[in-house]
Amino acid sequence: MAHTHNSEQHFEHLLKKHNLKRTEPRLRVLSMLSQKNVATSQPDLESVIGNVDRVTLYRILSAFEEKGIIHKVFDLNGTANYALCSSDCDEHDHRDEHLHFNCTNCNNVYCLDDHDFPQITLPPGFKLESFNFTATGLCPKCS
Ligand SMILES: [Zn+2]
Ligand SMILES: [Zn+2]
Ligand SMILES: [Zn+2]
Repeated sequence: MAHTHNSEQHFEHLLKKHNLKRTEPRLRVLSMLSQKNVATSQPDLESVIGNVDRVTLYRILSAFEEKGIIHKVFDLNGTANYALCSSDCDEHDHRDEHLHFNCTNCNNVYCLDDHDFPQITLPPGFKLESFNFTATGLCPKCS
């Protein structure tokens, strides 16, 4: 959940839990992502985070994604946006099966974790590993 814990202590605990060394850039990325209620692209993070080069930021995001700390959502332009995962996610085991909403006006991507999502049923023989469902339309700010 993005909005419940916002303290540095919580982020340090999160890094420790996933065997990641505590570094300032890592803490800053977590803090940035937790402050936003929309998913954030790497260029957007870059512009607000300061003092972290592109490669470092890319590595941080990849490591966080692999560890189940953040998940990636593609917006209408095909740009990857990142959002914090719920605590149900774990290393190589993302459980972000929630609805994403991409506003066609401001292009913000929202994680709608609290909304029920229909169960996906597949024909016999298919094994579900992940799925993506992104609704588009106007967000409350734009409608
Ligand atoms: Zn996840
Ligand atoms: Zn909007
Ligand atoms: Zn999400």
